[in-house]
Amino acid sequence: MRHIHAGLREAIGNKCRKTKLDIRLFREPDERSTVHELAIAENLLGILVEEARSHGIVRIKKVKLQIGELAAVVPESLAFCFELVSRDTIAEGSEIEIENVGLTAHCRKCDKSFAVEEQVFLCPGCGGADIELISGRELCVSSIEGETGEEDGANQSPCGS
Ligand SMILES: [Zn+2]
Repeated sequence: MRHIHAGLREAIGNKCRKTKLDIRLFREPDERSTVHELAIAENLLGILVEEARSHGIVRIKKVKLQIGELAAVVPESLAFCFELVSRDTIAEGSEIEIENVGLTAHCRKCDKSFAVEEQVFLCPGCGGADIELISGRELCVSSIEGETGEEDGANQSPCGS
C-alpha cells in the first residue's frame, strides 16, 4: 500500500522550469522483503507526468530523488526500470539524480537527534532504545526540471543547476 501526497513549491527560470516537489511514496515497513523498483518507477513516472503537465513542462530533463537507507531500493535498478517505463513519454531520457538519505533517529528520553550507524538503533547518549526514526525511509521526489512548451527556435539551453 502506498500513499502519495504532494505539496510543491516552484521556482521558474526564463525558459527552463524547475519544480520543487515534496512527494513521498511511503512504503509500509513490512514491505521490505521484495523490492519493487518497477512498480516504484511506474509510480514515479505517473507523478512526474502529472506534475509536469500542471506546471507546463513538456519535456522532463532531470529528476531528483531522495532515497533513504531503509527504503530498500537499489538506485541502479530503479534508474534502469525508470528508463524502461519512461520510453516514449515526456520523461524519456531524463537524468535521474539520487540522493541517499542516511538514518537519523531521535531519542525520546534525551530529546536528542543522532545519526544511526551500522543500524544500531540505540541512543548514543543514554543507550536507550526509546527512539523514533526521523529519516531513512524516504522515497521521494525532491525536484523536477524540464522545458516549458514555449517555442524559442534552436536555442535549447540545458536546464542545469
Ligand atoms: Zn537517549
